[in-house]
Amino acid sequence: MTTLRFRMVEEAIKRKAVDVKFPDKPASEYFGIHVFNRERMAEYLEEGVFRALTDSIDNGKPLSREIADDVARGMKKWAMKMGATHYTHWFQPLTGGTAEKHDAFLEWDGKGGMIEEFSGKLLIQQEPDASSFPNGGIRNTFEARGYSAWDAASPAFIVDTTLCIPTVFISYTGEALDYKVPLLKAEQAINKAATEVCRLFDPSVSRVVSYLGWEQEYFLVDEGLWAVRPDLMLTGRTLVGHESAKNQQLEDHYFGAIPTRVMAFMKELELECLKLGIPVKTRHNEVAPNQFELAPVYERTNLANDHNQLLMVIMKKVARRHSFRLLLHEKPFKGVNGSGKHCNWSLGTDGGVNLLSPGKTPQENLQFITFLVNILMAVYKRNGLLKASIASATNAHRLGANEAPPAIISVFLGSQLTEVLNQIEQSRSEGTIRMDDKSGFHLDGVSHIPELLIDNTDRNRTSPFAFTGNRFEFRAAGSSANCARAMIVLNTAVAHQLKAFKREVDVLMLKGKTKENAIYTLLKEYIRRCNPVRFDGNGYGEEWKEEARKRGLDCETSVPVILGQFVAPEVVKMFAECGVLSKKELEAREEVYLETYTKKIQIEARVLGDLVINHVVPVASRYQNMLLEKIGRMSGLFSPERLEVLTKHDMEMIERLSVHIAEIQSGVEQLADARKRANKMTDPKEKAMAYHDTVVPFFDRIRYHIDKLELYIDDEMWPLPKYRELLFVR
Ligand code: ADP
Ligand code: MG
Repeated sequence: MTTLRFRMVEEAIKRKAVDVKFPDKPASEYFGIHVFNRERMAEYLEEGVFRALTDSIDNGKPLSREIADDVARGMKKWAMKMGATHYTHWFQPLTGGTAEKHDAFLEWDGKGGMIEEFSGKLLIQQEPDASSFPNGGIRNTFEARGYSAWDAASPAFIVDTTLCIPTVFISYTGEALDYKVPLLKAEQAINKAATEVCRLFDPSVSRVVSYLGWEQEYFLVDEGLWAVRPDLMLTGRTLVGHESAKNQQLEDHYFGAIPTRVMAFMKELELECLKLGIPVKTRHNEVAPNQFELAPVYERTNLANDHNQLLMVIMKKVARRHSFRLLLHEKPFKGVNGSGKHCNWSLGTDGGVNLLSPGKTPQENLQFITFLVNILMAVYKRNGLLKASIASATNAHRLGANEAPPAIISVFLGSQLTEVLNQIEQSRSEGTIRMDDKSGFHLDGVSHIPELLIDNTDRNRTSPFAFTGNRFEFRAAGSSANCARAMIVLNTAVAHQLKAFKREVDVLMLKGKTKENAIYTLLKEYIRRCNPVRFDGNGYGEEWKEEARKRGLDCETSVPVILGQFVAPEVVKMFAECGVLSKKELEAREEVYLETYTKKIQIEARVLGDLVINHVVPVASRYQNMLLEKIGRMSGLFSPERLEVLTKHDMEMIERLSVHIAEIQSGVEQLADARKRANKMTDPKEKAMAYHDTVVPFFDRIRYHIDKLELYIDDEMWPLPKYRELLFVR
């Protein structure tokens, strides 16, 4: 008898790399050919229309209906030339994924025939019948309608034969139902607050934007093997599976030669990305076997985030063409690293100055320190909220698991910067500051910031929020997440802090301090206050947990509790003052995240129950029977004394199997009971907490016994592809 598992392994091993056809020209020549970018706008729009549109994109000027009609006409012309037949408003509901509903361009022409139509009205706004998107109660009230509205700042693009228009998604009553609305508002908030602070140093600055460079980690698994694992298929992770004898111990996968089938996948993925204007740049093997990473050149946060959302869809599609399934789950396999999505983040002025890069002049250096210290303050004050921005049922497996950032948000600065900040903090004087163009920036003996800093790319992988020379790297975000969730919180927290700083500078100046002294005095104070959030040591150590608690940092590990941060009074106030999210919107978000948490665990619990009852227990019983039959037959051949000696190990095995089977069965029964009790609860928070406290603990307990059975039972009988097959067949 050949099991399905063996057949699938055989097929997987035989698969060859797919041949990928490349355009016969350099990538720069086909970059963005599927995007209605400025080049295309200039080609397909009249000059006045082009100017009005770019003015709207760059400076937020509203677009008139007539202009929108002209833009739509040009867009349609281009899209049809590219072979598009449909269009869609493309948005980012709170599911974490993207949503699209395609409509054909076709309309009656009024003369009995049909024509292709696409008006400004359809471009600008639509009313998707989307009552089944998560909304946290916002749309249950009296009006279930939702609106999607064009985000002109993110260019339209074509996927397959559909013109996709990036849009925001809001309720009839105006509340945000997506990630883009608050992200755009957070961008506005940081622009306003940071520009005012910049003007303390350089009055010519008129705009500040935030940049995001994500690094996307993922696993690839052969499609045939994936199909024989109900857990992978339905939950995105393996709920059972004994560790492979070899996994990542030898550290031979990280940066290793990319396997040929995977390479073909990567090449095709990159080709698709480049055509869509996603500036992909870096690819490599990650730490775990069959784990990989892709990173682009950074872009403005809104666009970078759209690109990441688009990428996650594209990469799954391309993987299938190569007979892979792509896993974005944060922890698909026990015992090997999980996947994250590091968010590299920085701020820049319209003059092209990176505010997180130590400058060349004394002014730029003081400006750099000012932004750095304010960011530290923001992370210090909001460390619990930042954790909430990345907390989910799936990411919970990764955080604090000695392979990813701990579940405590702290900042790594590196020794040089720490030294600079310590010097400022410890300087005794009232803070006379000299800005001397020749010898650099002096704060009472604090010498100019070493140039070296720029190359100080930190390798302390245990820090969730690390300064890496010219940016911060927020490493706690999960691989399946919408980065916007973290970016909304980070940008708002920093904007709020910068506003407070500017206010305090103004007050001190009114009291007669010079600008430089006011800034200096505040920085000194801030450095002292935010000291608890600075930590360069080992984030994995047990000592750190103890230390962090003493320092007053948020050490909570229960996701449902962490999510409560979104509605903490201080947080509600911050979001309101920055005009990013209202109390009602925050409450809705908390509810959606709690419900998602509960549902994910609920699904996993059901799948585990099925696996046990339909796969594991029947096979274990069959194997046990084989042993019993064998002993029965032997009993006719040997004396009882001899038989006892010869079957000693089989008898032990039979007993062991019985014990594990019984443990599994009772575990699953208790799990089902706990689930039923939790399901009776109506309050989303209470329910999620019950799932966390009373359902989750069963997973590992039951798994332990299943994984033992996998070790004991005849390999030929085991139905589920094993870790060695999932992780090493490629
Ligand atoms: P590493 O793995 O060493 O952190 P990668 O090359 O994988 O580095 O990724 C670095 C990411 O940081 C890229 O997405 C890159 O575009 C981004 N990045 C570089 N500079 C900045 C910056 N100033 N602001 C935001 N992101 C940046
Ligand atoms: Mg990195």
